[in-house]
Amino acid sequence: MRALWGLSVVGIDTDAGKTVVAASLLRAAHCAGIQAVALKAVQTGCAEDTKGRLCAPDVAVYRQSCPEAESRALVLLKDASSPHLAARLEGRNLSAAALAEDVRENMERVPGAFYVVEGAGGLLVPLNAEETMLDMFARLGLPALLVVPNRLGAVNHALLSVQALRARDIPIVGFVLSSPVPVDGSESAVRIRADNRAVISEMSGLACLAEFPFIADLNCSKSWERAADLAAPVLKVLAPDSVSLSLSQDPPGPLGPDALLRFDREHIWHPYTSALNPLQVREAVATQGARIALRNGVSLIDGMASWWCAIHGYNHPRLLEALHAQAKRMPHVMFGGLTHAPAVSLGQRLLHMAPSGLERVFFVDSGSVAVEVAIKMALQYQHARGKLNKSKLLTVRGGYHGDTLGAMSVCDPITGMHTLFAGVLAEQIFAPRPDCAFAAPYDPAPAEHFEVALAREAHKVAAVILEPVVQGAGGMWMYHPEYLRRVSALCREYDCLLILDEIATGFGRTGKLFACEWAGISPDIMCVGKALTGGVLTLAATLCSGEVAGGICSDGGVLMHGPTFMANPLACAVAGASLDILAEDSWRKQVKGMEAALMEGLAPCRALPGVADVRVLGAIGVLEMRRPVDVETLQDFFVRKHGVWIRPFGRNIYIMPPYVIGKEDLARLMRAMYEGAARAH
Ligand code: PMP
Repeated sequence: MRALWGLSVVGIDTDAGKTVVAASLLRAAHCAGIQAVALKAVQTGCAEDTKGRLCAPDVAVYRQSCPEAESRALVLLKDASSPHLAARLEGRNLSAAALAEDVRENMERVPGAFYVVEGAGGLLVPLNAEETMLDMFARLGLPALLVVPNRLGAVNHALLSVQALRARDIPIVGFVLSSPVPVDGSESAVRIRADNRAVISEMSGLACLAEFPFIADLNCSKSWERAADLAAPVLKVLAPDSVSLSLSQDPPGPLGPDALLRFDREHIWHPYTSALNPLQVREAVATQGARIALRNGVSLIDGMASWWCAIHGYNHPRLLEALHAQAKRMPHVMFGGLTHAPAVSLGQRLLHMAPSGLERVFFVDSGSVAVEVAIKMALQYQHARGKLNKSKLLTVRGGYHGDTLGAMSVCDPITGMHTLFAGVLAEQIFAPRPDCAFAAPYDPAPAEHFEVALAREAHKVAAVILEPVVQGAGGMWMYHPEYLRRVSALCREYDCLLILDEIATGFGRTGKLFACEWAGISPDIMCVGKALTGGVLTLAATLCSGEVAGGICSDGGVLMHGPTFMANPLACAVAGASLDILAEDSWRKQVKGMEAALMEGLAPCRALPGVADVRVLGAIGVLEMRRPVDVETLQDFFVRKHGVWIRPFGRNIYIMPPYVIGKEDLARLMRAMYEGAARAH
């Protein structure tokens, strides 16, 4: 079975202009090459034609807009009144369940088509003595587009409708402004219309996706062309280019959406979950820009950049082009004894942009393995120098470096997995968390504690490993760059290497290309990953200084590592294209703009009782709660109520969206965070 997808076109009142909007969407979809069908669930005011058949006036409008598309009304009633009344006059009974079922059955007739479903009147228009149109939409479960006639009184009706939809967990993709009557050009009417747009956006947190003019002649195809152009952004939000493509095709594999989720639940393991009682997952079918499309047609605003990776947004044409071009030539070849241009040119670019002193690069396939290689480099280096006792890593509490055994050993021993793997993990040395906040005046005490630990243990320490400035998965903590500068100096003083794990922070996320630039220092070894390929493929790298490489390889030494997919050409080609985009430098302006917006937009969260701290750096925004949050409940709230993708953990509700995210989308993420934090306390 193919997925059903579509949109409920919902008016805030009778005569809101829904039909023109639905008809415009139908034409916009048709023009975009998407097979679309319009369904009018209930039509009142139907007249008989010469053959005695009832004709639905709204269907006539759909046909005027797009004669090529299928359109029909499901329940046709004669009297031009509310559905409950018109039905009663004919001795009929309407029910929300039967109507929703009817719509659904119709949607199954042309599987894969995009369905525009229009109701009758406003949301609380009665169907019978107990139920309203809203009950039908709730049963249908399609995302809603709110149609707001731009006139006095619109704000009130719009906000009431938003409340009603949200109370029933109906996702809202946004609102459009319509002009069902000729526009009044008086100064006060113009002012009211402009204010409506701003106030509804602000108070509902919804984006205004389009503004439709009055169409005087519904027979004029030029007017419909213009209207379809105006409706295109709605389609984009719901189904960006690639989304429409993949949605109109069969889902990959033989499973329909329900069977797919069942198999997933029964057989596929997800990150950090129980196989027997897994957390809920949703089926993503396509991505574009800062959006993730789900199987049910909802397009989520992405606040996670897929765990820090998708910095340029999804499906960036230059990354895809690099991928396709390389795929045609050589998707993969072993790196033992062979080399290739994608790896060499990526190596050149990386070393050119990396902090000074880093001269060698070792490509691996994930961040954790980059950390393993960094640890091996440090140990082999000290071994080669004859410092056989220097076999431990020193790090700080609250860190995170990956999930493989070596990387786990330097993760925070409490929030990490040390108790689970006690006796297996290498025992490392921990200094206290760097409690000197990034945004506060520098407090030297934590660095002094670090020095105490280092001075005591330096004879055993091969290297110090840290996440520079931002501790990510260990607690989204941002510490003062001066601390890092001090640690770097102490490493030199005590003859220990400094490994910086830039896997999460690298490539602009903190407002600097690499976070160590905040401290003006260079490490001996540096790990990068995550955003290296702009989120397209898995690739990471461990860079090191000439001194480290020379040390390891003195007297015929070799670095003992060599993954099968080392320097995979596809990944290297995409990473090269991603670094090209970064080199054009627009990320600086984007991240700066995001930082300012995050600072302003998240500031009100400080007043919420459940919020312990609000932190922003570059394109990272964090709400630290006083208590751990219920991830599944909160994530469900974000998806269903706000149409956003935010995955909290521990006590943190945080975002690090793609750098290309639009202002309105970022505002929606922040509004969702505020409301999530208000609920979660
Ligand atoms: N180091 C840091 C700082 C990270 O944030 C992560 C990933 N969350 C890793 C290492 C591990 O990377 P990967 O998941 O690619 O193995």
